[in-house]
Amino acid sequence: MPPMDADLLRRYLEFYQDLGVRTLYRRPPQAAPEPTPEPEPTTPMPTASSLPPVAPDGDTLPRILEDIGDCRRCRLHEGRGKLVFGVGNAQSPLVFVGEGPGADEDVQGIPFVGRAGQLLTQMIENTARKEGIRLRREDVYICNVVKCRPPGNRTPEPDEMETCSQFLCRQLSTIRPKAICALGGTATRALTGQQEGITKLRGKWLKWRDIPVLPTYHPSYLLRPYNEHAKREAWEDLKKLLHYVYD
Ligand code: URA
Repeated sequence: MPPMDADLLRRYLEFYQDLGVRTLYRRPPQAAPEPTPEPEPTTPMPTASSLPPVAPDGDTLPRILEDIGDCRRCRLHEGRGKLVFGVGNAQSPLVFVGEGPGADEDVQGIPFVGRAGQLLTQMIENTARKEGIRLRREDVYICNVVKCRPPGNRTPEPDEMETCSQFLCRQLSTIRPKAICALGGTATRALTGQQEGITKLRGKWLKWRDIPVLPTYHPSYLLRPYNEHAKREAWEDLKKLLHYVYD
């Protein structure tokens, strides 16, 4: 690792803070290692414990995707079909962030294409139409906290989210939307660090860096029967979000 000056250290600390890391520890000083012969030059395999790069200047979505590559940084790659990076308008003033790909997304490599995705599309397009806002799904940007499907659609583990969050952070920094919609408790926790449940946090403006975040229910939750009240609340959240972004 190159020697770190105060400015680079500050940028790393801010970067980790944005990823939700709240505690740091210092390794005890170690004895200088025995000199080893120069290794043959190889492409280093990034590991979960290596420092992620601070978002490079002039970052772009294709560059982030290239940096993710054939990712093996966490165990989720083992059961993955396709890596699901994100879809939509890279200049969108509105980004939706879900938890992680499900079975349909894993096959197609596109976020929110299964039943929950169809509901999300309807929520976006129907709410916009009713509110007199011209907006299609392809006008917004949609991505997830983790880019690979957790086995059996389980919630991603904290270390999986932390490993993957460098890429979400770069996506959001690149797009710089006017607002972010966090879909469900996991996305809300990952983006804002708030630990309260989604029923408490939905509809309340929070922040990721300086960008407003509005949490709402995950569409999969709204698909369950007997959730009419939650559906109405989610529609209220969407209205609030769309007017904030597009009025
Ligand atoms: N659920 C998510 O959180 N993300 C998807 O892409 C699909 C379902």
